Amino acid sequence: KVRVRFAPSPTGGLHLGGVRTALFNYLFAKQHGGTFILRVEDTDQNRFVPGAEEYIVDCLNWCGITPDESPEKPGAFGPYRQSERKASYKQYAAQLIVNGYAYYAFDTAEELDAKRKEVPNFLYGQATRMQMRNSLTLSPNEVTDLLAQNTPYVVRIYIPENETVTFNDMIRGDVSFETNLVDDKVLLKADGMPTYHLAVVVDDRAMEISHAFRGEEWLPSAPIHILLWKYLGWADAMPQWAHLPLILKPDGHGKLSKRDGDRLGFPVYAQNWTDPKTGDVTKGFKELGFMSEAFVNLLAMLGWNDGTDQEIFSLTELVNLFSIARISKAGAKFDFEKAKWYNHEWIKRSEVGVLMAPVHNLLTEGGIEVKDKEFLAKVIELVKDRCTLLGDFVTQTGYFFNTPTSYDEAAVKPKWNTEKADFFENFGKKIHSDLNAIKMEELFKSLAETSGFKPGELMLPFRVMLVGGKFGPGVFDIAVMLGVAETQKRIEKAIS
Ligand code: GLU
Repeated sequence: KVRVRFAPSPTGGLHLGGVRTALFNYLFAKQHGGTFILRVEDTDQNRFVPGAEEYIVDCLNWCGITPDESPEKPGAFGPYRQSERKASYKQYAAQLIVNGYAYYAFDTAEELDAKRKEVPNFLYGQATRMQMRNSLTLSPNEVTDLLAQNTPYVVRIYIPENETVTFNDMIRGDVSFETNLVDDKVLLKADGMPTYHLAVVVDDRAMEISHAFRGEEWLPSAPIHILLWKYLGWADAMPQWAHLPLILKPDGHGKLSKRDGDRLGFPVYAQNWTDPKTGDVTKGFKELGFMSEAFVNLLAMLGWNDGTDQEIFSLTELVNLFSIARISKAGAKFDFEKAKWYNHEWIKRSEVGVLMAPVHNLLTEGGIEVKDKEFLAKVIELVKDRCTLLGDFVTQTGYFFNTPTSYDEAAVKPKWNTEKADFFENFGKKIHSDLNAIKMEELFKSLAETSGFKPGELMLPFRVMLVGGKFGPGVFDIAVMLGVAETQKRIEKAIS
């Protein structure tokens, strides 16, 4: 039975890479008829941000990758928030101590600091553990006394010496670690909360997780998790690991980080997120005008392809085509220009019906009143090829609903309207509702012949009269769409 989990910490907005991890877990689960679980890893009380969990849920819903089991929709494997499993972590830490796989450490923050100053690149582990204050160096009676006096302590894993820990990563194949390079990580903190390392193993076991996709940044933690699965006696039930490639800056140099949101001009959050600590609002892909379908599509391509040149995939296609064998080991470059390309492709390919609601909302927000929905549908069909972000629809459709209030004079020559007034007055009188765009263009050109102007000199002024600027689809398409009366009105307004 395939059971996978997306396990974010509610410490702020969701990073681009986080949503990709969620997506890959989702695709794998759905392809195998399995279960996609959201588990909230909230054991770090200092970094907890209220509202972050709701935000993560909203974000997954927006992407269309709603978890089957989550804190909001618990299944039979709860609790789905780590903090609610506190008692059981303590019990497992105690079991590890009894079996010699973990030990109490009583070192104070000052003692640790002093040691760090004394020993360069200090690691609490085989080279140093016997110099510290812990249950390996104190007598059993001393330990009992310290515990009886409620002396603060942490529990550390005992990493063995001279061993090689090997596991099979679904993407990377066999991966090995020398235990001599791994430190005795804290498993249980002084506040009684587990660290991520203990919690992730206990939870994956309790939730019967079969496969775990997570970012490559977790690879160095893998040996600790593998050892814990063994030490807790569960080696046979360990999930199969897949460490997803890093997401790199567009030039391929270095890892993409949240800070790149500002530096490279794109945010990496998937929704409007106000950081309660700083009050900063970072616009996400949604607010920037990305379609969720495009966002999901571009995330899937960060480290995966189907082996052909195809780049546009729906979520359903992705579920069908996804394969671990085609996930790359090398980092995936993220380029915002390419991201916009995906969105443009999705807008172009979308049915008008799909675009109606978002465009209508955007126009309303922009103070543009749409009385006739059918008219809006036709307008969307006419301009959608010109829109890259959904917000472009406001500029590209706004003039169909409101007569231009100003003209882009920089786009035209001086006296663009007055000098050619006679021509336009005449043209305005001659148009009628039987003309389609081709016929209207013919009329325009034949009238131009006797006007003393070349059609080319008249076309741009006509566009500016109707639209207000130098953009939009074919000018005669626009005129036909606006209708005779409105076209005449705009001509008159511009030449008077
Ligand atoms: N809580 C970890 C994170 O924030 C989860 C890592 C994992 O999937 O094991 O990414």
